[in-house]
Amino acid sequence: MTNKIITRFAPSPTGYMHVGNFRTALYSFLFARKNNGQFLLRIEDTDRARFIEGADNKIIDIVNYFGLKFDNKEIIFQSKRLDVYKKYAEQLISEDKAYYCFCSEEKLVKIKEEQTTNKLPPGYWGPHRSCNKLNKNEAKEKVKNGEKYVIRLKMIPDDNTTEENGVWNDLIHGEIKTEMKFQEDFVIIKSDGFPTYNFAHMIDDHEMGVTHVMRGEEFISSTIKHIRLYEAFGWQLPQFAHLPLLLNADKSKLSKRQGDVAVEDYLKKGYLKEAIINFVVLLGWNPKTEQEIFSLAELVEQFSLDKINKSGAVFNIEKLNWFNQYYIRKMDLADLTAKCLPYLLDAGLIEKDGEDYKNKETGETVSNDWIKKVVLLARERLVKLDDISEIVKFLFTEKSEYDPELLVWKKSSKEDTAKNLELLKNFLAGVEDFSKENLEVEIKKFIEEKGLGVGDMLWPFRIALSGLKNSPPPFDIAEILGKNRVLEKIDEAKILLK
Ligand code: GLU
Repeated sequence: MTNKIITRFAPSPTGYMHVGNFRTALYSFLFARKNNGQFLLRIEDTDRARFIEGADNKIIDIVNYFGLKFDNKEIIFQSKRLDVYKKYAEQLISEDKAYYCFCSEEKLVKIKEEQTTNKLPPGYWGPHRSCNKLNKNEAKEKVKNGEKYVIRLKMIPDDNTTEENGVWNDLIHGEIKTEMKFQEDFVIIKSDGFPTYNFAHMIDDHEMGVTHVMRGEEFISSTIKHIRLYEAFGWQLPQFAHLPLLLNADKSKLSKRQGDVAVEDYLKKGYLKEAIINFVVLLGWNPKTEQEIFSLAELVEQFSLDKINKSGAVFNIEKLNWFNQYYIRKMDLADLTAKCLPYLLDAGLIEKDGEDYKNKETGETVSNDWIKKVVLLARERLVKLDDISEIVKFLFTEKSEYDPELLVWKKSSKEDTAKNLELLKNFLAGVEDFSKENLEVEIKKFIEEKGLGVGDMLWPFRIALSGLKNSPPPFDIAEILGKNRVLEKIDEAKILLK
């Protein structure tokens, strides 16, 4: 019987969820689900200097929000397991696989300086490991006397004098070789008693039964350390899959300077979770088919590690925008409206009024149905939800502000434009049904019957209603504004033209 596949997502709560971390979570989730395995969550909170209060809950909320359900009954927090790591570190000491190191900060700096001068890799390796050979009882005595120490792993075990190269296999990158000679005896327990990431994470991966470790490529260089630890304990190695780097458009490593890297920033701007998942999954995974749109369920069906690329994946915001527009257009209007409401509130266009909303400027009550129409009007133009207020704010303002010249179509004049608006207003005053469909039919018929120019009539109509060169069709706007407001707006335009 083969082992059940177990993956994990092991973020450090240092403030926000990097898109790269989110991709790790997504791939780990998909791989586990696809193989009927388990996806576990562990919070790596032992680096107290980088710890940010509340960041752990934020991560948990985001993972949940995206529907990446994890299977642990209880989330594992490393900070609650200090005695476990200590116990394992002591085991390694008693087996002579690790040792106490009392070297001062100054001494370590001096070693590094010397190595740099001699063009050697910096670190506590080879001849520099002075504490490596300390008598164990003496060392214990020092510890008892309260001397400051760290615990280091012997990267090259006592019974290995050949210093042969470390070779291991990565599921994505293939065989990886590391020259062992310059590998330092790295710290597993720090002087504050906390374990290092390198130590704690592998203890946990082992105890959680993790079979597949997926994480960013930046961890390749430290994987040999983890492998040595597994060997020191005699534990079975998990498989490693190091995911390709995320790159900016100019092929540099994806960084904050060139745009947002936090998933929560994208959510805040109104990128939909479906779009984010669809976009992020393709950063490094290539389905090798024409299919571009994937639901989470389809991804579970189709995901596989052998379709993950080795080379870096460019983070192309245009592509994310394209996905977002796709999902916005596909969304049920009532759901989209519910999602847009917070942005309209935030922009101060509406405010809550008991169960309802009211226009913040005019104080008029606005019904949910009316807001739905507004959202429908904007839908085709929305790239992300926070675009909505810019697109629709003209529907909420009492007075339109625009340059009166804008009302004049091509070679027409202010006088003719005013006359045309007057004709239109008189005509509209007699129209009962203000639905956009009816308005379109009636107005076009009117223009034709009177032998008027389409641009001469519809252009000033559009500007009078929206004040915008690029607005939605005037019939749609007219339906939303309603007859009275439409007639008022035409009057306003006429006054502006004087
Ligand atoms: N805590 C590490 C991080 O957030 C996890 C690395 C790993 O998955 O092993 O980058």
